[in-house]
Amino acid sequence: MNKILEKNLFQNRDHNHQACISEALDTANKICSAHEARFTPIRRRILELIWKSHEPVLAYDLLRILRREKDNTEPPTVYRSLDFLMEYNLIHKIESLNAYVGCSYAHRPHIGQFLICTECNQFVEIDSSKISKTILTEARQSGFEVASQTVEIYGQCPKCR
Ligand SMILES: [Zn+2]
Ligand SMILES: [Zn+2]
Repeated sequence: MNKILEKNLFQNRDHNHQACISEALDTANKICSAHEARFTPIRRRILELIWKSHEPVLAYDLLRILRREKDNTEPPTVYRSLDFLMEYNLIHKIESLNAYVGCSYAHRPHIGQFLICTECNQFVEIDSSKISKTILTEARQSGFEVASQTVEIYGQCPKCR
């Protein structure tokens, strides 16, 4: 990916984020109805909370917010909703941070890669089939069968540099 595009992806985070959130919820709604899956209020609220944050979100923080809204929210409810949202590619887990992010490419099959700023924790998801194909090819040459890929790249975003 070239530098200009990378910069744009990070800058995109600044403008009208409310529109991004609405669009993400809308897309999720469409994807769920296409699969006849239930986009329940809790699933919707969790997706909204994840999108509201510009940083990867911990399950614990979601639970804390949800408990403020509804006293008896239990951790398994949150984890089940997170699993559901991941199953439909509406969110991804950043394994190294054990935190969740909203997916910008939910409408199409993809394997995302993440650029994560170590200063401000902002991130962008890139969708480079070149990277994922190279990983598959290299792994196959070693006789290795890939079950899943997690590519998390750390550095500094344009603002923090
Ligand atoms: Zn994605
Ligand atoms: Zn930064």
